[in-house]
Amino acid sequence: LSRCSLSYTPVNMLAENQPANGGTTLNTVYGFIGLGNMGAPMCANLVAAGMSLRVFDAAGTAERTPQGAVVGDSIADLAANTDTIFLSLPDGKVTHAVCEEVLLAADRRVSRIVDFSTTGPEAAGAIGAKLGAAGITFVDAPVSGGRAGAVAGSLTVIASGPGGDVAQLSAAFDAVGGNTFHVGAVPGQAQAVKLLNNFLSATAMAATSEAVLFGQKFGVDISTILDCVNVSSGRNTASADKFPNRVVTGSYDAGFATALMTKDVALYLEQVRVAGTPENIGAVVSARWNAALTDMPESDFTEIYRHIAGESKTRE
Ligand code: NAD
Repeated sequence: LSRCSLSYTPVNMLAENQPANGGTTLNTVYGFIGLGNMGAPMCANLVAAGMSLRVFDAAGTAERTPQGAVVGDSIADLAANTDTIFLSLPDGKVTHAVCEEVLLAADRRVSRIVDFSTTGPEAAGAIGAKLGAAGITFVDAPVSGGRAGAVAGSLTVIASGPGGDVAQLSAAFDAVGGNTFHVGAVPGQAQAVKLLNNFLSATAMAATSEAVLFGQKFGVDISTILDCVNVSSGRNTASADKFPNRVVTGSYDAGFATALMTKDVALYLEQVRVAGTPENIGAVVSARWNAALTDMPESDFTEIYRHIAGESKTRE
């Protein structure tokens, strides 16, 4: 029960206080906007769990729609024909704009929006307030686990919002993830946990790149370095997963853009400054990711190793 220091309530306990059908009916229709690296496989898992799903993506819906989902025409179409809309969009600005379009839609049916995107606490709070004023419940529900986790249906869902709604969403959250944490009642709390998680992941990726290059300089093979670290005290998500599976293989295909990781770390640092908590390491890590993005704007985030390796070559 103490997996999270905020007011974490296991979702199955919340569910016990809900109607047997979890607040949904056979006629419940779900919408999904944003069928990118994360959204498309999440949709496939929602359909596989038996949910009726209508989807939309601004870059072209039909080619991104998993089998079994209905191709929607527009955001307004989803607002008029679904009960709950899930979002998986690049950032808070886009989530805000999409929610504005939902509010403008004629014949609105949707009564709940669940945002799987990483937007930051401020954006989530503002969006929740705007939707709430128009009678739409907002659940802030960023995810962790990468594209591999989205495909496998093993994402961690970090949710904040009304407990009854989070409980009613447990079947959907189970379909996309292995772990759901209800960290608080207020949209934005989940974003805070998601941002601090990604700051740690970004730090691990950048620090492991520097550490591995140091070992290689002494003529030690990269796989030997990782094998040693991974049964020692320096083990982390980059050394255990990203390096062996995406860097050593040369595939650099984690499915998470450097642009998105840089956005997350910048959002983290911005919110640390608002909160007034220590920022020394955050500032250094954010600067490191900004430099990687300038150098490699279209890259996968695991390519920060290449960026840092390039710098070490120019020093020779
Ligand atoms: P992505 O860029 O692959 O997908 C975003 C999708 O949103 C795209 O298909 C785009 O066309 C669509 N879109 C953009 N604007 C739109 C609009 N106005 N209307 C409709 N559709 C629109 O990004 P992603 O990697 O799938 O990430 C989505 C979110 O999940 C981001 O907030 C990201 O930070 C977060 N996230 C990503 C990962 C990862 O590993 N990729 C992991 C955890 C969380």
